[in-house]
Amino acid sequence: MRTLPIYVEPVPAETISGYIGRLAESHCLEVGEIRRALIREAGRSTWSDSDPRVAVALARLCGLPDDALEVSFEEHGMWTRCGHPRWVPQKCWRCRTLAEPHAACAECAGGFTTTTRARTGPLCLMHSRWTLRGLAVKLPAGTYMSQAERNLRGPLWERGIAIHTGEFNLAAAAILAWAQGNDGGTFLEERAQRFGLAGPASFEEVMLCGYPEVVRIVEVAMSPRILRGVLQVSRSALPQIDGFANVIANTLGATVNDSLHDWAGAVIGHAHRAVLYAAGLRRTKSAKNALCPQDRALIVASGTKRACLLRHVSPRILDGLRRGHTEGTSRLSVTRRFPLEPDELALQ
Ligand SMILES: [Zn+2]
Ligand SMILES: [Zn+2]
Repeated sequence: MRTLPIYVEPVPAETISGYIGRLAESHCLEVGEIRRALIREAGRSTWSDSDPRVAVALARLCGLPDDALEVSFEEHGMWTRCGHPRWVPQKCWRCRTLAEPHAACAECAGGFTTTTRARTGPLCLMHSRWTLRGLAVKLPAGTYMSQAERNLRGPLWERGIAIHTGEFNLAAAAILAWAQGNDGGTFLEERAQRFGLAGPASFEEVMLCGYPEVVRIVEVAMSPRILRGVLQVSRSALPQIDGFANVIANTLGATVNDSLHDWAGAVIGHAHRAVLYAAGLRRTKSAKNALCPQDRALIVASGTKRACLLRHVSPRILDGLRRGHTEGTSRLSVTRRFPLEPDELALQ
């Protein structure tokens, strides 16, 4: 196979489809033409961007080493709770889970748009460029947001938290609820004005205007230590709701207002229902009496009930609950691959 004339440097952990899109643009080719050449070269009959033979064919087409488009699990792998063999966050070499593809920094991508599965958040530390979904902003070098980005890539990543796993969506909703209860005039609106946004409303806008605060809420308010205290379904929910709202407000250096309190009530109520559901999960759909192992039950419930907080608590919170039967779980191979969706109460 002849190699393409223009060299396009791959972005770290770039997706195959993202890289082909950039190749097509820089060579004035159609994506379909490149795909057809790769299908032939890889000896397939249809297109697949997950076939390693396609990645090798693509690397050869660009004159790159064969493994140039393989994403390094060592460098970019996710920590997951998959039960291989334990349910604590771990980098599992059997699942080899990577982050969902997210928009890459356009400066890293030579001015084009592409997607990457790298161990990163929305901020490129090299170019100080913010990129989240369709929102891209150039920030001053050494921006105040850099530390938040490092915390995302470091301790939060190792708790199994990435931009697609839901916790940031929930924290962004908390900040928005608090800001709305303050009738504007908070740091959120002030920064939105600086970025030329009318008022932060979407997930990507709240993230841009409150990135350090969102990361802080995930770090502190969604830590196992705090969640253990607010997901106790055998005790009255009211003090737990007050507690959760207080921790969030303290993290923001603010006080609780009605709007934040209502939000915390809805989130804790939803999480408590999910914990009760987890407590009654049966091992399989047919085994009516055999309960699911507790740690697995929490992970399954966090997926089916869309309650990401359940992924961060010890299964001991299920001890001593009266367990009415709820449902049976699917096979491990199915629940392990359950797609993560943000909670319904989160900013989507
Ligand atoms: Zn695994
Ligand atoms: Zn960059």
